[in-house]
Amino acid sequence: MFILPNSDTMIILEGEYTTWIVLLSVVIACLASYTALSMNERIQQNSFFSRNFWLALASIAMGMGIWSMHFIGMSAFMLPVSMEYDIIQTIISIFPAVFASYLAFYISNKKNKNQWSYIIAGITMGLGIASMHYIGMSAMKMEAKFVYKPLVFIASVLIAIIVSYVALYIFSTMRRFTRNLVIKIITSIIMGLAVASMHYTGMSAVVFYGETELMEHTQHAHSMNIPLLILFVTIGISIFLTFSGLSSILDRYVDYRLNYFDALTLLPNRRQFEKKLEMPFSHGSLAIIHLHSLEKWNSGYGYTFGDKMIKEVGQKIIQHKPELADAYRIEGNRFALLITGQHYYEQFKESLEKIMFELMQPIEIANHTFVIDMVCALSTGDREREKMQLFSNATAVLQHSSIEYKHEVIEYDPTVHIYSFERSIIQDIDKAMDDRELFIVYQPKIGSNKEIIGAEALLRWQHPSYGFISPGVFIPALEENGRITDVTDWIIEQVCQEMAVWIENHYPLRGVSINIPGQYITSPRLMDVLKKSVSKYKIDSHFLELEITETSVINNIENAINSIGEFRKYGFKVALDDFGTGLSSLSYLKRLPITTVKIDKSFVDGVPESEKDSAIIKAIIVLCHSLNMNVIIEGVETEAQVNFLSHMPEKPGIQGYYYSPPLKREDLAKWIRNFKEQKEYVSQNK
Ligand code: C2E
Ligand code: MG
Ligand code: MG
Repeated sequence: MFILPNSDTMIILEGEYTTWIVLLSVVIACLASYTALSMNERIQQNSFFSRNFWLALASIAMGMGIWSMHFIGMSAFMLPVSMEYDIIQTIISIFPAVFASYLAFYISNKKNKNQWSYIIAGITMGLGIASMHYIGMSAMKMEAKFVYKPLVFIASVLIAIIVSYVALYIFSTMRRFTRNLVIKIITSIIMGLAVASMHYTGMSAVVFYGETELMEHTQHAHSMNIPLLILFVTIGISIFLTFSGLSSILDRYVDYRLNYFDALTLLPNRRQFEKKLEMPFSHGSLAIIHLHSLEKWNSGYGYTFGDKMIKEVGQKIIQHKPELADAYRIEGNRFALLITGQHYYEQFKESLEKIMFELMQPIEIANHTFVIDMVCALSTGDREREKMQLFSNATAVLQHSSIEYKHEVIEYDPTVHIYSFERSIIQDIDKAMDDRELFIVYQPKIGSNKEIIGAEALLRWQHPSYGFISPGVFIPALEENGRITDVTDWIIEQVCQEMAVWIENHYPLRGVSINIPGQYITSPRLMDVLKKSVSKYKIDSHFLELEITETSVINNIENAINSIGEFRKYGFKVALDDFGTGLSSLSYLKRLPITTVKIDKSFVDGVPESEKDSAIIKAIIVLCHSLNMNVIIEGVETEAQVNFLSHMPEKPGIQGYYYSPPLKREDLAKWIRNFKEQKEYVSQNK
């Protein structure tokens, strides 16, 4: 292997390199290193997949990269004899590279490591690269023979070890900057160079020789084997692309799993459950299985025990649920089963009873036998609208004072499970929309030149048994029960319908504003409803203004900024309601792409008597104008307030009882007529 035979008939063969292929081989080595390092980063991160998964991917990427670099490098080398490769040996040569990469990455990823860890990892990686190279060399089949120059041979192995050590050391110690792309690229280049420099030093250790007679008819270097070159380059580049693509697909999958599935039971979570409830279906039954005093088990036996218990329950539910029912884990101690379609109710109820019976049998975990107390609430609905009710009805069963956790299936009974005024009004909301108990009133807004600039739509409810209910009472109740979104959709539709009539009749209204509840602002459904309603009634989107409150925006500022941006893009105006009540920072005002700021009534109440209030209101008006935002002062009741505000350097818009309380649509028409007449009268008599 190291000794050149002494023979007269033998001549030394000189090889030649094609520069661009040499460069290509180095690039491939660097790309493979980059891919391997990216996989390595994930070993350290909290990942859905185990460390070993990423470790294996990193090693395959690195090993295959070393391998394809080697064969591309070989394609760059031309000898005056023809060259072929033994397929089996070529394939075998992949393994030392992958195996050594695995060991090296494993060692350098260990938690407790010292200088020796890096040295051992460097040696392993270096030897891996070298053995791949020399096995790859022995796969070569040609008419010439070769021996190695011992010193250069040893140098090539040492180079592989030293440069691998440097690369692994830099990568591991610079891990806190791992997000820093430059460091990652530099490390990949060093690692790529480790592979390439080993290869080319190794190649310079080789002395090719052949018999003179053989060489007589081969005067010039053979051309390179292009198909093989293409094969190895393709393999090299595919490693990079496949692994990068694979990891981003995996990331997306992981995101999806984490967002929509419960990690413990692997069942779909509350998000999926809510999505399902929002989907159209007309008949459905919902069961909620509530496990009682889970905390007791957790605190008595530890969380791992509690987790096992939940898993066990989850499995039993999956085992015995009807095939067509979907199971969800919607809360720590609650599972939901949902089935759509009217005919399945009896069958569904029977399976629930079976599940309850099964769960009444003692469970054994960690040598403890026990029975978990639980109850199952069942509600059913056979109208489209009632599906939203399914959940609150089932919850009503669970919240009833008589509830006991005796493995029973309790059906929702409207005469028993009404537990509060709040619940009963939630129950009545659909009927209220259908029967026009719920209606909209409009409060005009007056501009700086005493012109009508718009109106705010406000909701009113004339309840058949409770009489007039204030929005201050029913809106928070609807918000809490998630019903406010349906009601808001209804308002948007009503307002658009009304607005279309007003535009046709040339009403001097520049737009109507609608109050949007905080939880709804960032929902894609809202944008959908808005778009559909304006196009259905053929009105321009700038006729609608969305009022959102300061407090709701602050809780979810980044998403709110995005959503507001979307509304604006589509032409809707956006106003910040009740400004000044939410303790928000002024910096939010700068970041929110809103059109209007509505200053809360509490600021104008003390005006003009209170100097402080007057100064504050003045300052806010100046600030908003300098930010190019319109200002509306809410709750203006007296002439003194109007006078004070009309002497501001920048006159704000005014909304309040001074001009008009909120009016029913027919009263609004009258009011507008009167207002116009009055204005004309005033200007004629000036
Ligand atoms: P808001 O959006 O700030 O509405 C302004 C409230 O101030 C309205 O009360 C209005 O009637 C009242 N107001 C206007 N001018 C004066 C005045 O000069 N003096 C006094 N004392 N009050 C005045 P309303 O209609 O009772 O509504 C209260 C709140 O309920 C609203 O505050 C809004 O947050 C909510 N709300 C009303 N309608 C809707 C709706 O359709 N959807 C949603 N999500 N919320 C609504
Ligand atoms: Mg408002
Ligand atoms: Mg307000």
